[in-house]
Amino acid sequence: MSLVRLQRYMHRRNLIKNRRKFLISAIILVFLTAIIIGVVFVYSKEQQINADMNTEESIDNQPAEIVQKESLPEPKPIPKSESIPIVMYHHIRDYDVENDSIGTNLSLSPSKFEEQLAWLKNNGYKTITFDNFSSGSDNKSIILTFDDGYKDAYTNAYPLLKKYGFSGVFYIITSFIGRDDTLAESQIKEMSVGGMIIGSHTQTHIDLEKSTVNTISSQLSESKNILENITGAKITDFCYPSGRYNEQSPKNLENSGFKTAVTTESPTNADQFSNLFLLPRIRINHNDSINSFTARIGKFPL
Ligand SMILES: [Zn+2]
Repeated sequence: MSLVRLQRYMHRRNLIKNRRKFLISAIILVFLTAIIIGVVFVYSKEQQINADMNTEESIDNQPAEIVQKESLPEPKPIPKSESIPIVMYHHIRDYDVENDSIGTNLSLSPSKFEEQLAWLKNNGYKTITFDNFSSGSDNKSIILTFDDGYKDAYTNAYPLLKKYGFSGVFYIITSFIGRDDTLAESQIKEMSVGGMIIGSHTQTHIDLEKSTVNTISSQLSESKNILENITGAKITDFCYPSGRYNEQSPKNLENSGFKTAVTTESPTNADQFSNLFLLPRIRINHNDSINSFTARIGKFPL
């Protein structure tokens, strides 16, 4: 091979080599670009899904007003009653007995009770009754309830409620009326005339979860009749003894002419207020300080 031919041959070979190199580089570049675009696409899609999930979560956790402010398709109307705390008291008395922990825990001292009423008054709260519960009055409405009809309802709770211009709902066990430690007929009458609401707590504090339909029916209608005869008012509010009820209880109550019933369960979400026969309550115990009281009222529903 002559030198000239060899040079030409080498030149052509280099040319082919360079072309091949260029081609391989171009293919690699195209591949890399495709991979990068792919990765970016998948990543942004995932981000979008995460963002959507977070929005849903945060809407669920937000208070009702904020949810409504956001332009959701059709915001579910929130009944006002969902922001009305229902407080549960038993005894209002000075009582702290070591070997009676149940009695002690069910007793709130009159001074602590007054402290709570004063706080409610100073913070613009108004007590309402179950008659205007569903419509609600404003976001500073509250319902105060008292179970079992103890004598201190008349001697301690009632005077303090009157002093602050508040009303209360008192659930009476009718066969216990007139005992040493329970309200007399005349006291129930006086409280009713004085603006307090009287409700039924059955005749004998029976367990509604386990009683027969006939027993339940007679306990409901008898207690209602007795209280209506004493007060001259319509009795439409009920309280489950020891918080016990079963699936039929709301229907039984409705059939007997009641309109509301309270349980001993704590309110944990607003949905619990949709059934007027299963209303949860905030329990106030012996050791509750004014701070624990206001914290629970303020954070409502809990
Ligand atoms: Zn009770």
